[in-house]
Amino acid sequence: MDGMKKVPVREQDPKVRAHNFDEVCLGYNREEAMAEAERCLQCKNPLCQQGCPVSINIPGFIRKLREDDVPGAYEVISESSTLPAVCGRVCPQETQCEGRCVRGIRGEAVSIGKLERYVADTAAEMGIHPQPAKTRNGKKVAVIGAGPSGLACASDLARLGYDVTIFDALHKAGGVLSYGIPEFRLPKERVVDREIDNVRALGVRIETDVIIGKSVTIDELMDREGYDAVFIGSGAGLPKFMHIPGEQAMGVFSANEYLTRSNLMHAYREDARTPIYHAKKAVVVGGGNVAMDAARTALRLGADVTIVYRRSEAELPARKEEVHHAKEEGIRFELLTNPEEILTDENGWVSGVRCIRMELGEPDASGRRRPVPIEGSEFMIDCDAVIMALGTSPNPLISSTTDGLATTTKGGLVVNEENGETTRPGVFAGGDAVTGAATVILAMGAGRKAARGIDEYLRSRD
Ligand code: SF4
Ligand code: SF4
Repeated sequence: MDGMKKVPVREQDPKVRAHNFDEVCLGYNREEAMAEAERCLQCKNPLCQQGCPVSINIPGFIRKLREDDVPGAYEVISESSTLPAVCGRVCPQETQCEGRCVRGIRGEAVSIGKLERYVADTAAEMGIHPQPAKTRNGKKVAVIGAGPSGLACASDLARLGYDVTIFDALHKAGGVLSYGIPEFRLPKERVVDREIDNVRALGVRIETDVIIGKSVTIDELMDREGYDAVFIGSGAGLPKFMHIPGEQAMGVFSANEYLTRSNLMHAYREDARTPIYHAKKAVVVGGGNVAMDAARTALRLGADVTIVYRRSEAELPARKEEVHHAKEEGIRFELLTNPEEILTDENGWVSGVRCIRMELGEPDASGRRRPVPIEGSEFMIDCDAVIMALGTSPNPLISSTTDGLATTTKGGLVVNEENGETTRPGVFAGGDAVTGAATVILAMGAGRKAARGIDEYLRSRD
């Protein structure tokens, strides 16, 4: 090892993992983690930390790891994050912490995510948990949504001594970590449930099966139930569709529903009570991480899978690692291709997708080159399932049942960029409920920012 390259991480063989739901990446063992930690230059001005949305003291935890002090390393990480085993697995590190690492200038960046995962997993094996605040300040905060932003906000507030209750609409906490990201990328019992238990260990209560806006409103929480402030981290659960002919046909699914069935309801298991369609040939429309997750799930359920994306490989929004894994497992990519119509058989079930080839034209509002159809280039892809992974937008239930909450034209809540406060005093928001679907770590960063905003707001009222 010349020090320029990362210590490689062990993974399940693609041919084997294409048929199971076990975790793909096996992580570092102790020797590998120590060798990778040695590659860190311990920069005085660590750019990696600036690239981390929750500002983990990266050289600090790596230094502890080099000293073979895993509890110390975990303590450093815990100052900024309660979900390190999750983030070490699902953060887009190449565009965040590792994207800024100076080691990456003339070689490969330090494998910060894999080291973080190693520390979190090893600390869990050692039975180490975060400790609750020693004193409580008697103030109550309600957090809506037990996903990444809500868990991050609740953890920081609990550490500051607040009495925090999280309400979640589903029967299980975790939000997108539980219903959206598949087991083979993020194991539920071994990783997600464990880190949620760590949030509970800080004193946070989690009430599931409570739909804010139906079971109880924000006005009732504040006026009748004595909550001093509210954080809305309800995510973006409303799937988008293309509005093309045939999209209502049987066999067309939103990635959201498809993944929820598999991940949350364990429909991939033979003993599950929730059914899932086992396609022979599936087309997944979209190019983000959710599209990769849906495609790799369909593959594991026995389908031959094609991903259709209207731009080129360079614009694929999914993490490079996920695209690489999908290709290794045998998923086909039809790039610069757009569906125009979904065709059905005599029973009304999907039988294929008529697509058209695209080329890239002038840049659009997003700065990316706009895909333009090539006349006369239509072609068919035979399939018996189509999974739409085109993104999601926030559910309007909360904004429509709460007085004084302004929303953008895209349905996101309007917040003060500095502290996450909405247009209603005492109500804060962050994560996908504000931005529309983004990443776990950006949502956590927004949750932390709002926790600081709530703390300042409640102190100023004193
Ligand atoms: Fe990197 Fe994510 Fe960990 Fe921050 S939380 S250091 S961005 S892997
Ligand atoms: Fe280590 Fe890279 Fe961060 Fe420098 S930028 S402290 S080398 S991880």
